[in-house]
Amino acid sequence: MATVIETHDLWRIYHTGEQEVAALRGANLRVERGRFVALKGRSGSGKTTLLNCVGGLDRPTRGTVQVLGQELTDWSDEQLTRWRREQLGFVFQSFGLITTLSVYENVELMTRLRRLPAKERHRHTVECLERVGLGKWHDHRPDELSGGQQQRVAIARALANNAPLMLADEPTGELDSVTAAEILNLFRRIVDEEDVTLLIVSHDQLVDDYADEVLHLQDGRVVGDGG
Ligand code: ADP
Ligand code: MG
Repeated sequence: MATVIETHDLWRIYHTGEQEVAALRGANLRVERGRFVALKGRSGSGKTTLLNCVGGLDRPTRGTVQVLGQELTDWSDEQLTRWRREQLGFVFQSFGLITTLSVYENVELMTRLRRLPAKERHRHTVECLERVGLGKWHDHRPDELSGGQQQRVAIARALANNAPLMLADEPTGELDSVTAAEILNLFRRIVDEEDVTLLIVSHDQLVDDYADEVLHLQDGRVVGDGG
């Protein structure tokens, strides 16, 4: 089985004024291809920092990050941006949709960034919205949708990228437990049906029922495998 994510002795130290905060203190993370892996831990344990280092949104102070066979550590910002666009789908807690665009346009935008031909953009956008159960919501604006539906749009947008790796930071953090379960179920289906690897950061107990593997972050280190 191929390894999709591997971090080795990862440190991230933030400097704010006089203070130093070590958000990561030697984090070793390994995620195999085709797995749904949950990363749990208390608030402030470094989950977002680790996810951002894996996704090339943040740079570690020390240590190495290998994702999809590439070593990210020495890349320029431009290289990281291009790579993210081609290889990653991001899903955030607060959905991150563009409020002035329709549901359709939010997803279609991703296919433009990928420079798909016009005809294919349309077909692919429709398909991704069908996939998340929003086939009838194309023309609505994000603020006309429920939180769960908005998160589905964000997932459709990540799918539109055809990325082999999806990263999600607290994607159910703003959802009630019934809706959260539906979203986790959708993630589960995507991992089962597409060749996608998913790393999801959460402190939601529910995620244990859906993940193949639950890892815990404590004080900036991955402390073990809960199942
Ligand atoms: P989590 O996502 O698990 O809540 P974070 O990765 O956001 O944890 O944060 C880990 C630690 O790093 C916290 O103590 C937080 O305050 C600190 N931290 C995170 N981002 C920054 C930043 N940009 N500047 C300074 N400190 C930060
Ligand atoms: Mg966080």
